[in-house]
Amino acid sequence: MIDLHCHSCYSDGTLSPEEVITEALSIGLFAVAVTDHDTVNGIEIAIEAAIGKSINFVPGVEISAEIETGALHIVGLFINHKSPELLEMLSFAEQERKKRNIKIVNRLRTIGISITTEEVEEEASPGIIGRPHFASILLRKGYVGSMEEAFLKYLAKGGAAYIPKTRIPQSEAVSVIRKASGIPIIAHPDQTKRGGSELSALINQLKKHGLLGIETCYSGYSKKDIKKLSGLARKHDLLQSGGSDFHGAIKPSIRLGYGPGNLNVPNEFYDRLVDLKKKLL
Ligand code: AMP
Ligand code: ZN
Ligand code: FE
Ligand code: FE
Repeated sequence: MIDLHCHSCYSDGTLSPEEVITEALSIGLFAVAVTDHDTVNGIEIAIEAAIGKSINFVPGVEISAEIETGALHIVGLFINHKSPELLEMLSFAEQERKKRNIKIVNRLRTIGISITTEEVEEEASPGIIGRPHFASILLRKGYVGSMEEAFLKYLAKGGAAYIPKTRIPQSEAVSVIRKASGIPIIAHPDQTKRGGSELSALINQLKKHGLLGIETCYSGYSKKDIKKLSGLARKHDLLQSGGSDFHGAIKPSIRLGYGPGNLNVPNEFYDRLVDLKKKLL
């Protein structure tokens, strides 16, 4: 089995890239990708950790793209993590994230929560700051009883300290991954909150910019979901991908490779993606 969607401590995961590789080896994964949110800072370390090991490491990234409702995350697999266009786009995302983070800290402070930017930076180090880092601090300080409550009360849309961040335009998220020799894939399509004809329209739009794949296996998806999504992949001539969205200890119910249960993403997804990657070169 494989896992082509997972986070390291360079975004909001808790394992270092080396530890992700060690865990992947210990459960016998055939291939693993690190797909941190809006950063490739952990990729070089993971590549080095995987050298000479019996695993196929896939350099990846997960971009938060613009969409009016729901969330649109584009996973890029087999990327050249040194691509100047990619690095430029990620540096923009990082600046926007920084602006948002300061606003979240200020909002939390005005509603009586004791928190500083330095604390959040320390929580996220060496990674970029994401909302789960705010949630961990709120939990540790006893303002909330769970990570879920931290999002519901404060950090998610509708929460007291929700601040939207400027996201990357859809066309750019997809085309820049292609410019970086990567395979752009719609992550967890259910989170777009679009189904049927709306999802098909979104796919058609993204295909114009170079979309090549869709995640059909993901933590929590039922056999029925998977069947429906693989039908959609076939209809739109997209390759299938899949992964757990492992984050380590901040999402303890999700195991690398296994997800919350027995995810089991088939090796053939990897083989087909590799075949396509060869054709792109
Ligand atoms: P950010 O990139 O800062 O917007 O944070 C995104 C991260 O927050 C992702 O890892 C999501 O899985 C996590 N997240 C978003 N909404 C929730 C929620 N309601 N409960 C738990 N985690 C969430
Ligand atoms: Zn995350
Ligand atoms: Fe995501
Ligand atoms: Fe993710």
